[in-house]
Amino acid sequence: MTERLVTDLKAAIRSIPDYPKPGVVFRDITTLLGDARAFRRAVDEMVQPWPGSKIDKVAGIEARGFILGGAVAHQLSAGFVPIRKKGKLPHATVRVAYSLEYGIDEMEMHRDAVTPGDRVILVDDLIATGGTAAGAVKLLHNLGAEVVAAVFVIDLPDLGGADKLRELGITVRTLMS
Ligand code: AMP
Repeated sequence: MTERLVTDLKAAIRSIPDYPKPGVVFRDITTLLGDARAFRRAVDEMVQPWPGSKIDKVAGIEARGFILGGAVAHQLSAGFVPIRKKGKLPHATVRVAYSLEYGIDEMEMHRDAVTPGDRVILVDDLIATGGTAAGAVKLLHNLGAEVVAAVFVIDLPDLGGADKLRELGITVRTLMS
């Protein structure tokens, strides 16, 4: 990935200080999504190691992971699997608790969304502490899927999430820190 591309993609992301609460800088990718060229270049870069390799499913984390994950799935000719906050999926699910900055929440996937041995790429917009992504990996592993990689546009390295996933043996790809 060229430095120029990283600079361009960073410029397409809007930073909102003190959102959703004081002290947090929210990295708003809606501006990147709305920029046709930046959106295409980001998705092309996200899938860069995998064209031609067999990926069965792309799992996207609600909600921005749905948008990026759908585009990534299309690019890799893979199916798409939504990982959602609890209570949103209509059919039989598997559920996992995951840690947030303050407290815990639960997320779910349909039980039949992947089959054992499926090769899956996990997608979200950003990794911070890694609690959300680690929960998603747990769901996929519980259903017997192989998590080929976890891909994010943004890494917040100070929060250690990408390293935490790597410690779980997951290949992590991020476009910028
Ligand atoms: P974590 O579980 O701590 O890795 O948090 C990652 C999840 O929270 C992702 O789904 C992100 O979309 C969201 N998130 C956390 N921090 C930020 C931030 N500073 N800006 C935008 N989204 C964030």
